[in-house]
Amino acid sequence: MGLLSVIVPCYNEEENIALFYEELIKNDSFFGEKGIEAEILYIDDGSTDRTVEEVKKLREKDGRVHLVSFSRNFGKEAAIYAGLEHCRGDYAVLMDVDLQDPPSLLPEMFRGLEEGYDSVATRRVSRRGEPPVRSFFARLFYKLMKKISKTEIMDGARDYRLMTRQMVNAILSMQEYNRFTKGIFGWVGFRTKWLEYENVERARGETKWSFWKLLIYSLDGITAFSTVPLMIAVVAGVLFCLLAFVMILFIIVRKLIFGDPVSGWPSLVCIILFLSGVQFFCTGILGQYLAKTYMEVKRRPIYLIREEI
Ligand code: UDP
Ligand code: MG
Repeated sequence: MGLLSVIVPCYNEEENIALFYEELIKNDSFFGEKGIEAEILYIDDGSTDRTVEEVKKLREKDGRVHLVSFSRNFGKEAAIYAGLEHCRGDYAVLMDVDLQDPPSLLPEMFRGLEEGYDSVATRRVSRRGEPPVRSFFARLFYKLMKKISKTEIMDGARDYRLMTRQMVNAILSMQEYNRFTKGIFGWVGFRTKWLEYENVERARGETKWSFWKLLIYSLDGITAFSTVPLMIAVVAGVLFCLLAFVMILFIIVRKLIFGDPVSGWPSLVCIILFLSGVQFFCTGILGQYLAKTYMEVKRRPIYLIREEI
């Protein structure tokens, strides 16, 4: 069938490198049957542990293993981009090294391609083993995105996805600096088949995503794939103008009928505080988009390589 590139971003995953390899090569007999050759690209995202050494050890055993090592930590999105850029496969699959994306699903994913899909994606239907607060906010994020973005972003979608060369090239053609891969997959389109599975907990080590990091990541996702927040200022502005107009009429009429006992200091302070809050909020949103635009126009490279094998 051709060459399959397996792209595996790794950041401080020394314990998982070999474990992942062992799981992946369980598919070798399937690959043999189908006439699929494989290359395994470990993308080291500036790890400070023995990740690179572990990959090199595998490389000595198996020539299909390749390494791209970054000069520092650039983030998973950058690692995915580098992987797609360096792979030579007719198909590419993205996988986490912690075995949360089970390699045993690969044969089923290939069946999807044979059915004529351009891409086979996975989503987890449960969030077992995850802190409830995190699940709650994750769900909220997907609901919000559905409302404010035209790009389809699936709840629970993983980055675990098998795709054709055509789709890989489409993704590579999106050279934006603020990369939100879940949105990019949706944006490029193509015919996608979804496979569902129960959440699997990571094999070894700790997740690299704190709640705070995820929150910031979700805000990046919103600014990258929706401009609806910019409308808040417009809507709020119109509403408050209308309100002000009604209030002016009210005050004038009251003055004419009842005279004017000077009062209303507390309500005035509340109104000023409230309105300046709304104004700061809207300026903040504007600032977010401006900051993203600023980073985009600098055209900095998405990643830098220190070593490549
Ligand atoms: N990862 C990466 N760079 C980072 C953070 C994570 O390449 O800055 C990799 C990590 O090694 C793993 C995958 O991205 O293969 C998913 O990370 P993790 O398991 O920590 O995230 P979670 O599964 O908890 O969302
Ligand atoms: Mg994980």
